[in-house]
Amino acid sequence: AIAMTEPGTGSDLRGIRTSGTRVDGGWRVNGSKTFITNGIQSDLVIVVVRTDPAGGSQGFSLLVVERGMTGFTRGRKLAKIGLHAQDTAELFFDDVFVPDTHVLGTVGGGFGQLVSHLPLERLSIAAHAIALADAVLADTIAYTQQRVAFGQPIADFQNTRFELAELSTELDVTRAFVDRAVLAHGENDLTVVDAAKAKWWATEVQNRVVDRCLQLHGGYGYMLEYPVARAFQDSRIQKIFGGTNEIMKQIIGRDIIGRK
Ligand SMILES: Cc1cc2nc3c(=O)[nH]c(=O)nc-3n(C[C@H](O)[C@H](O)[C@H](O)COP(=O)(O)OP(=O)(O)OC[C@H]3O[C@@H](n4cnc5c(N)ncnc54)[C@H](O)[C@@H]3O)c2cc1C
Repeated sequence: AIAMTEPGTGSDLRGIRTSGTRVDGGWRVNGSKTFITNGIQSDLVIVVVRTDPAGGSQGFSLLVVERGMTGFTRGRKLAKIGLHAQDTAELFFDDVFVPDTHVLGTVGGGFGQLVSHLPLERLSIAAHAIALADAVLADTIAYTQQRVAFGQPIADFQNTRFELAELSTELDVTRAFVDRAVLAHGENDLTVVDAAKAKWWATEVQNRVVDRCLQLHGGYGYMLEYPVARAFQDSRIQKIFGGTNEIMKQIIGRDIIGRK
């Protein structure tokens, strides 16, 4: 697991309060994290800790906390709208001793390490968005061909064809941009801005595709036994985690207009 978010701060990582105090041979960590993916089942958690309160963006370090360390406890498995196959949890650190051997990278370099790796996380969210939307669209195309209304398959209504045509086009266009970003990543050339564009756009398209595919299923689309219903539940978070889509637009806007 990687633990950045805290009860009091998510988008604004500079507001992280979990602290690491220097002691002989390591750090004493105090604080809490929330919404952590794999928080329950992980054996090893990379925790973003403020190791220098006066250090600004150079005041954060990544400390590796292991299952069983004294003072490290997990809260409950949080109840979510979707993604039920994955656990999301709160983590608590009460005077946890973390030895120097468990500093990941450099002391004070945590923020830079996050910034350099978050684009890859965002790209993977975009790729996931396309894969899920693709599967839902394929499923929906099959459904509309077998479901009959007014004496004909619903796929024969012009509205259905136009819906499928629009969704297929949106997905193809999105895939072209994300593929370009994947190639750039392969060349070590993926920019923070392009990763942000891929993340916000692909996840918006995913949610649009899933919602409209659910509509084409009629009432069956609202039943959890149909894959489109589960996709509807699972898709919503994509616009929030990995940096909200508003934060993605901040990154892009800053690149266009400059920092304010
Ligand atoms: C299922 C799930 C799994 C998660 N997994 C992890 C994980 O493994 N590790 C981890 O560290 N975190 C994880 N998170 C946390 C997630 O990354 C945060 O929830 C997310 O970054 C948003 O932070 P927040 O919830 O504090 O919202 P806030 O930051 O409070 O944002 C609230 C609203 O304000 C908007 N907003 C905030 N700042 C601005 C701004 N400058 N301009 C415009 N709008 C703004 C946001 O876009 C949002 O709409 C997970 C969350 C969920 C729900």
